[in-house]
Amino acid sequence: MKRIGIIICDRYKTCDGGKCFRSVREKEGTFKIYENEDVEVVGYSTCGGCPGGNIEYVAAGMKKYGADVIHFATGFLAGYPPCPYIDIFKNYIEKDIGIQVVIGTHPMPTNYIENHEKIQDIPDKYKQYWNNLADADESTKYDSTRTDYIEELDKELRI
Ligand code: SF4
Repeated sequence: MKRIGIIICDRYKTCDGGKCFRSVREKEGTFKIYENEDVEVVGYSTCGGCPGGNIEYVAAGMKKYGADVIHFATGFLAGYPPCPYIDIFKNYIEKDIGIQVVIGTHPMPTNYIENHEKIQDIPDKYKQYWNNLADADESTKYDSTRTDYIEELDKELRI
C-alpha cells in the first residue's frame, strides 16, 4: 500500500480535483509508478497561495496521516506561469519533512500542451516534468475539451 498526499496550486483552489482523482484510480500520469500497488490518498490541500505559506504545514500533516509520497498537482506546471517555487518546496519537503516528492498528478491534457507549445512558455527547467506527463494517449484522454470526453468518462465509471 502506498499512501500519498496531493498538494495543489492555490490558484486552482476551487478545482473539483476530478482529473487528479481519476488519474489515481486509473494509475495514469505520475501514478503509473504505483502500477502494482494499492494507493490511498491521505491528504489533499493547497499550498496556501503564493509564496506557499501552507507547504510546511500540510506536508507535516500529510506525514502525520501516513503519507509516503507527496505529489504536486499538474496545475503547478500547467498554470500560467508555472509555479516558480517548485524546486524550493520539493527540496524542503524531502530534506526537512523527510517525504519523497513527485512533480505532477494527472497527465497533461493535449489542449494544454498544444497551447503552451504554441506560445513557447515552458521554462527549460520544467520540461523534464512536462515530458513525464505527456504520454500521447493519456494526454488525449484527459483533454476535457474533446466532444466525447464526458461520454468516455461515463463509460469508465460504469465499469
Ligand atoms: S504558483 Fe506556486 S506558490 Fe503560487 S499559488 Fe501556485 S503553487 Fe502556490
